[in-house]
Amino acid sequence: MADLTIECVQGDIANQPDMESIVNAANARLMPGSGVAGAIHSAAGPELARECESLAPIAPGQAVITGGHGLPNPYVIHCLGPVYGVDKPSDELLGNCYRNALMLADRKGLTSIAFPAISTGVFGYPIEKAARVAVDAIQAVAGKLTSVRRVRLVLFSDQDLAVFRKALNAGGTSG
Ligand code: ADP
Repeated sequence: MADLTIECVQGDIANQPDMESIVNAANARLMPGSGVAGAIHSAAGPELARECESLAPIAPGQAVITGGHGLPNPYVIHCLGPVYGVDKPSDELLGNCYRNALMLADRKGLTSIAFPAISTGVFGYPIEKAARVAVDAIQAVAGKLTSVRRVRLVLFSDQDLAVFRKALNAGGTSG
């Protein structure tokens, strides 16, 4: 197994043209919404929602894959994060999002995947806790990946970027 590069950047998840796949912080019905889902669906165009129809609904922690349509990325992996304090155990369900998305990308033979900070918007997850869960889950599955080489964590604000960088450095991996 080659090394996995994990990096944190500030930016828009819908504008990561060098990545083969991006992850949507989806709702259960896989429909356009606010935040990440809104940005992804508006960049992808209505064909994405049409492709999603047959795959919905999904459960917290689950991941499903579609094409990218109008996005610069060939694939979108849709994950439903837990609503903090409602879908329990929250840490396990949030970790499942990262694990399942990575394993799905790997099974498809993809080399790169970009994640937003799943559940930290409308779903209310505290950013420090979410960062730790994300980094732990990615590092725990890294040894099982055969095609995925690059994981990018895309944070919307500079503050969130600093929190994720800290979690990544505490976890001992580069980024
Ligand atoms: P959830 O419903 O899973 O909480 P949201 O889309 O509400 O998902 O927010 C998840 C995180 O993504 C939040 O930290 C939010 O600030 C951030 N975010 C919102 N829009 C974008 C975007 N276009 N690119 C990257 N991150 C975004």
